[in-house]
Amino acid sequence: MAVKTPIYMDNNATTPLDPRVLEAMMPYLTTHFGNAASKNHSFGWAAEAAVEKARQQIGQAMGASPKEIVFTSGATESDNLAIKGAAEMYREKGNHIITATTEHKAVLDTCHYLETQGYDVTFLTVDHTGMVSPEQVEAAITDKTILISLMAANNEVGTIHPVAEIGKVAKKRGVLFHCDGVQAFGKIPLNVDETGIDLLSISGHKIYGPKGVGALFVRRRGPRVSLSAQMHGGGHERGMRSGTLNVPGIVGLGAAAELAMQEMPTEGPRITALRDRLQQGIVSQLDQVNLNGHPTQRLPNTLNLSFAYVEGESLMMRMKDIAVSSGSACTSASLEPSYVLKALGVGDDMAHSSLRFSLGRFTTQEEIDFAIERVVRAVRELRELSPLYEMAREGIDLKQVKWK
Ligand SMILES: *Cc1c(COP(=O)(O)O)cnc(C)c1O
Repeated sequence: MAVKTPIYMDNNATTPLDPRVLEAMMPYLTTHFGNAASKNHSFGWAAEAAVEKARQQIGQAMGASPKEIVFTSGATESDNLAIKGAAEMYREKGNHIITATTEHKAVLDTCHYLETQGYDVTFLTVDHTGMVSPEQVEAAITDKTILISLMAANNEVGTIHPVAEIGKVAKKRGVLFHCDGVQAFGKIPLNVDETGIDLLSISGHKIYGPKGVGALFVRRRGPRVSLSAQMHGGGHERGMRSGTLNVPGIVGLGAAAELAMQEMPTEGPRITALRDRLQQGIVSQLDQVNLNGHPTQRLPNTLNLSFAYVEGESLMMRMKDIAVSSGSACTSASLEPSYVLKALGVGDDMAHSSLRFSLGRFTTQEEIDFAIERVVRAVRELRELSPLYEMAREGIDLKQVKWK
């Protein structure tokens, strides 16, 4: 049977909506349109009940109580609320924040903003696999440190941080721990008590839920965390995030979280096997292919490879029927190599040669086999056009060549 193209292998950028999630949302887009804050009629009650069910589903999926869930417009907002909200609330305790260079822009740019407001930020470096160590975190803590913000798993290379060990360090030193859990949540177990996470950001559209909805876990006990509101208004979400609740979106996020937990035991191994098949299929047929990220401590669905002597962008143009991401960020004027790959010590050339394959719930083995064939063919074609690759194959050390 022929595979249906285009094939989607960019699930770390966004996921399709699971049909079961859409089904759960449908009544709240149509007949049950009430405002969850309307306390005096059944339209409002139906909406509020649906929101409370979603709070329960999400809390359950991360080991939190429903009362600890604050709904937002997505993980960018959750990250902003966690970091700015904690920084402002605990300003009298100190002004130092610890994060890492490979965090998502929603964390990095928020920290850069806080630097302009008199905060001190330590950006930890990572090793060549993208890993931050608990020892590094501990060594960076000062008596002014109020917050550690480190992700559970990286979106570009999939490296999984030792979150529980980092949480222990944070607890021991009495520092709050925010974790961007967007990529890990729903893919691998992530429990706020087992990890000592005080603030956890998640997003709907990375877990087969809708776009424009997310949540922030805010610990209520041991310690009770307060956040300074970033959105002022009707005092929704315990005053931490005003604004009429996105009821259909929230219902979708709840359904998506519950499904992710149900599917994880079978989905994790299935996607890992597909990912390994893709990796093996490519690496066994091509030379000079490097894996970016950690070989084992890595998300089940993520494969980031650099193909020496080939430009990622050119490669993508040659396999337009497969949707992947390249290690170059298209900014308005320049084609900059990914800051995450740079932080791992990947050279500019190899960063420009990289592709990220991120598989998902709907990826099939037929699609994997099709992708292997297409990638191998495209890389071979491009390398045939590359004099540098020819020279390297003939054993010429390109670093020693004196170019005229
Ligand atoms: C996608 C993503 C975000 C942003 O989430 P949105 O809901 O799209 O705002 C933040 N952090 C990580 C790690 C992500 O992958």
